Amino acid sequence: MENSLSITVDVEDWYHIPSVCGSTFSVYKDVDEFFENWTERYDYLTEPTKRVLDILDDFNVSATFFVVADTAEHYPGLIESISERSHEIACHGLHHTCKIDPKTKQPMMSSEEFEKRTIEARKTLEKISGQKVTGYRAPNALVGGWMLDSLEKIGFKYDSSVCVNSLYNKTDCSLKGVSTYPYYPLESSLEMGTKREIIEHPWAYYDLAGFRIPTSGGPMLRFLGAHMMLKGLKQSLKRGDTVFYFHPIDVSYEKFPQIGRGRPMYWAIKGNVVEKRFKYILKEITKEDISFSRMSGLSINEEVDCR
Ligand SMILES: [Zn+2]
Repeated sequence: MENSLSITVDVEDWYHIPSVCGSTFSVYKDVDEFFENWTERYDYLTEPTKRVLDILDDFNVSATFFVVADTAEHYPGLIESISERSHEIACHGLHHTCKIDPKTKQPMMSSEEFEKRTIEARKTLEKISGQKVTGYRAPNALVGGWMLDSLEKIGFKYDSSVCVNSLYNKTDCSLKGVSTYPYYPLESSLEMGTKREIIEHPWAYYDLAGFRIPTSGGPMLRFLGAHMMLKGLKQSLKRGDTVFYFHPIDVSYEKFPQIGRGRPMYWAIKGNVVEKRFKYILKEITKEDISFSRMSGLSINEEVDCR
C-alpha cells in the first residue's frame, strides 16, 4: 500500500486540559494563572515523553510532535530532545487555550489575537528546535474555518485538527465531504475546497455501515482499545494518507493531581495498558506495507482530491 501513516504526538501536561486551564469551565483561567498559584510538582510530562521517544526509535518511526509552546519555558531541554531525535516540531498553541467555545462553537478570540499568539508560539518553537515550524493542531481539536484562514495568512502549510465521526463534531461547521485523507479546505470553512496554500490532514475513522467511529487515537485509544484503532487506521489508509495521535501523558504511570471537573474519569485508563496498545499498533502497522511519514513531507494526492 502506498499511502502513509503520520504518527503524531501532542506534547502537553495534565494541567493543559480544558477542565484545569484555558476554557470557559476551567479551574484556572490560563496556564499563567496556574503557575502563579500552583505550588506543588507540575511536571508529569518529561518522563513519559522520553519513553515515547525510545519506543519510536525501537520502531524506527520519525513522527510529528505538536508542542504547546509554553513547555519551552517550564521543561528545559524537552523540545530539544525531541528535535535531536529527528522528529518534526509543529505547533499546538501558545498555552493550549480553546480558540472556539466548546458549546457554542463561537470564536473565543479575534483572528488578530489568534494570529499574534500563534506567531509567538511558532517563534518560540523555531528558536528552541532550530526547525522551521509549518504545522498546527488546534488545542482540544476545537477548530474553525476562520482559524485555517489565519494560519494560511501567517504562513502555515498545514493543519491537523479535523475529526470526522458520528459521535461528536468539535468544529464550527458541518464536514459533509471530508474523509480521512488530506484535502484543501474551503475558505472560512472546513469543508473540501479547491487548491490553496494550506492543507488539512483529518483524522482516521472506522466506517461501520455509515456509522463513523473515531479511531485516530488520543482518548479513543484509551477507551476503545487497540483493535478498533487498528481496524480504523487500516481502513482509512485504504482511502489515503491518514493520522494517528496520542499524548505522552497517556502513557504516564503516575497518578495526576486530582483537580478540575471530570478528571478522575478522563484519566481512568492510561499508563502501562496504553503503552502496550501503542506498541501493538506500531508493530501491526510495521508488518503491513505502510510507510510512516512526518506530516510536513506529505502533499495532496490531486487524483484523489479533485474528483
Ligand atoms: Zn492538546
